[in-house]
Amino acid sequence: MEIKEMRGLILYNRNYREDDKLVKIFTETAGKRMFFIKHASKSKLSSVIQPLTQANFLVKLNDVGLSYIHDYHDANLYKVINEDIFVLSYATYLVALADAAIIDNQPDPHLFAFLVKTLELMNEGLDYEILTNIFEVQILERFGAQLNFHECVFCHRVGQRFDFSYQYSGLLCPKHYDKDLKRSQLDPNVPYLLDKFQSVQFDELRTISVKPEMKQKLRHFIDGIYDNYVGIQLKSKKFIDDLSKWGDVMRKDS
Ligand SMILES: [Zn+2]
Repeated sequence: MEIKEMRGLILYNRNYREDDKLVKIFTETAGKRMFFIKHASKSKLSSVIQPLTQANFLVKLNDVGLSYIHDYHDANLYKVINEDIFVLSYATYLVALADAAIIDNQPDPHLFAFLVKTLELMNEGLDYEILTNIFEVQILERFGAQLNFHECVFCHRVGQRFDFSYQYSGLLCPKHYDKDLKRSQLDPNVPYLLDKFQSVQFDELRTISVKPEMKQKLRHFIDGIYDNYVGIQLKSKKFIDDLSKWGDVMRKDS
């Protein structure tokens, strides 16, 4: 087997037998792979297999069964993310979401780049809730949901006071509200921001600023979209939901 070098992000690791570990890595060029680490506690790899660590790995890949890590260099731990339980819980959720969105062994360098860039911006201190929303909106396509937050599904008019129709999987302008009497009524800024999030460039992210009340409305609407179109229950998402319940109290005390 030939040794290949590739950039990778640790998704998770788990114990295997006595002192061995299985490590799931999202690699840039070979997709998600499971690696076997023998005698993990004594291995030179022990520090580089923690979740959210990024490095260049020298690996031996098996298409069937486990792969092996020979060595690594240029490891990068997201220090700021790891030091704040709020940022860490959101970053953990994004990684779990990316894990759920793609199947093993299939390269997705675009998603890899997007995930790594989002984590880097979180680590730089940009708004982690908004970065999470942007990631959630852009990764919807990977789950098979192609939603348009730009125009009315019937007349394609833009810039209206839109509501959202689950029945038609899209926006309704006031002229077409009556097509779906069970439509979700929205704060006009919700579809406006989601439309922006869908096509946002990384350079623009530094200038996006959203008030807490609007963040709550976005969170609520995106949760509805995920319940309807994605339907996965991630432990890391439940953790965020619980965190937000007592998080404000904790922040005030600290
Ligand atoms: Zn219309």
